[in-house]
Amino acid sequence: MTIRFSRTSHFWISATLVANLFFTTSPSLTNADEGMIPVSSLNQIDLKARGIELTAEELFNAQSVSLVDGICRVNGCTGSFVSDQGLIITNHHCAFDAIQKASTAERDLLTHGFMAANLKEEIPAPGYTVRVTEDSIDVSDKVLAAVNDKMTGAERAKAIEQRRKELEIQAEKEHMGLRAEVAEMFAGKSYYLFLYTYLKDVRLVFAPPASVGNFGGEVDNWEWPRHTGDFSFMRAYTSPDGKSATYSPENVPYQPKRVIKVNPAGVLENDAVFLLGYPGRTVRHQTASFLQYERDLRLPTIVELYRWQISVMNTAGENDRAVAIKHATRTKSLANVEKRSRGQLQGIGRAKIVEQKIAEEEAMQKFIDADPARKAKYGETLSNIAKIYQEISTAAPLELNLNELRSACRAASYAWFIVDAAYERQKGDIDREQPYMERNWEQSLASLKVSHSDWHRPTDAIMLAGMLDRLKRTPKSNEVAPLQTILAGNDLFAISEDMMTATKLGDWAFVDACLKSTPDQLKKVDDPLLKLVLDLYPTYLRIREKNKEREGRLSQLSGDLIDIKRLFLANQFVPDANATLRFTSGHVKQYTPADAVIKRPISTLQGVIEKTTGVDPFITPEPLLKKYAAKEFGPYLHPELKQVPVAILYDTDTTGGNSGSPVLNAKGELVGVNFDRCFEATINDFAWNADYSRSIGVDIRYVLWITGIVYGADHLMKEMGVNQ
Ligand code: ASP
Repeated sequence: MTIRFSRTSHFWISATLVANLFFTTSPSLTNADEGMIPVSSLNQIDLKARGIELTAEELFNAQSVSLVDGICRVNGCTGSFVSDQGLIITNHHCAFDAIQKASTAERDLLTHGFMAANLKEEIPAPGYTVRVTEDSIDVSDKVLAAVNDKMTGAERAKAIEQRRKELEIQAEKEHMGLRAEVAEMFAGKSYYLFLYTYLKDVRLVFAPPASVGNFGGEVDNWEWPRHTGDFSFMRAYTSPDGKSATYSPENVPYQPKRVIKVNPAGVLENDAVFLLGYPGRTVRHQTASFLQYERDLRLPTIVELYRWQISVMNTAGENDRAVAIKHATRTKSLANVEKRSRGQLQGIGRAKIVEQKIAEEEAMQKFIDADPARKAKYGETLSNIAKIYQEISTAAPLELNLNELRSACRAASYAWFIVDAAYERQKGDIDREQPYMERNWEQSLASLKVSHSDWHRPTDAIMLAGMLDRLKRTPKSNEVAPLQTILAGNDLFAISEDMMTATKLGDWAFVDACLKSTPDQLKKVDDPLLKLVLDLYPTYLRIREKNKEREGRLSQLSGDLIDIKRLFLANQFVPDANATLRFTSGHVKQYTPADAVIKRPISTLQGVIEKTTGVDPFITPEPLLKKYAAKEFGPYLHPELKQVPVAILYDTDTTGGNSGSPVLNAKGELVGVNFDRCFEATINDFAWNADYSRSIGVDIRYVLWITGIVYGADHLMKEMGVNQ
């Protein structure tokens, strides 16, 4: 029941098109190289020199089955198919929301872990989707044909958006059953249409207790050495006739075209490894003015806002496990971004990235000015980009806080969705914002419902009060008319409490009814939060319009910037990560984060035992301690370290979204599951450097020891073809 897409020749990416994605290669680059390389460009690099025994065609072949067919995107993460029955290995933190949603204070799967003994026991993971890349095609010409130089920024952004949607709709008609998405590769320059098998019935199969899957918690997050068993198993299902379908008990396991072979022998220090995955976002082609905005405004604001929200949720859940479970996914993801943002702030300072960019841009400006034709065309590109970031920076305090108002306060986020949907869904399908288009509506509603199930009124009242308080202290907030009376109040907490007590947005039936209403009908509904958001709606629309205007101008300028960079650097560079399928390679390798410090690249079970204090987040479950004490290590001991390896460190180029990516050996066999980077490497979203860029994966030997020996999931070991 495999979903197959016949790879017609017009989807074959020619070498000329590939050249758009990846400029010139240097055969001397034998170790990890910067670059999350689009898989369609693999024939441009020397895989042998990187220690990889597979050919480019064995990794990716648009016309037949290749290794990438065994890789999938699991929501915002990556996963690998490790059986022909749709069994997926990914991270514990990627399956976290599914584990949380299936947990109650009485049946706490987060704390105790979960193992389905058979298919029937597997638990549906609401809101989860799995995507498998089937093909891609360069549609740059088609997208850029929609714009011209006379357009305003907003017109340009809208024209591009419109054309992208048209191409997606058309491709989905031509390839029934597949999902189409146009991705921007180089801003304002190149666009690829990706076709995906899109699976909507995903279930939880096995998760270790959080004391394994999240061992070390936020203390160890983004750090090395690491002793976290950050893995879980999920399974994708299709309808009985092999089509993508939402959950139904009749559904059957998806049969992937390719299964990734698990190699229980793992890796040794200095071995070559490579990763395939869906890295989310990097911003390495941005300018110094962008970095200054990040450093001075956006990142510090995020750190402050998220820290506060995390502490609110932690306090709310302190003595109430049911509340703690409700907040678990959100707390974890905010904490992850908060610490990463601190790492990035530190990195921007330490690595002097802004200063480097300024120097690079000064040199580039001289290069531009040296040639009259170049000067006429690109003379003001950098200064115009800087002007836009200046404008963004001026607007940032108010805009960031207004945006966070409808995010920190969940009821406000539901109200926002209701109001925006009501207005947008009055428009023709193609003119709507993406979440409200017919092709996305079902999934948008599913996500809303998932988020709604975690609503907690008392927490939300504090969040609303906190955001109103921040807005009160934000210059120009008094210019936002609907906020004037509220912010003039003395007791913002009492105001928020009253609103939260009166709102019916915590009731799904009410939300559901509102979702079926027109804007005029909504205006008659007596609900204080809905009213606040309706009143604020024109302000939010103005911000959205302004952002489109900036986006359009930046898109054009960024396209010019890429042209100049190409001329100026005459050097290899690849597109920023954009959640499309990429390849990266490196070696299992130690590093030196500070003077006189050497960090070895393989951690072991002994470290888990040494770190175990019995106090969260350093609790180790009894079954693990028993197997350790009994020295039941199976075939998983490292030949030299004589310990079960737990985590590995390697110098590949990864970012968020690579969570769950397979760590593959030279032959393309699974030897680990990527889950993190070290603190210093958080900065590689902005700038990559071989000295500090290190990614972290859980070692396959630990995965198999925990799954097979500690928790006795023999059926999964058998399914993966692993003998122990
Ligand atoms: N742990 C990280 C994340 O989920 C993965 C990474 O960014 O390298 O964001």
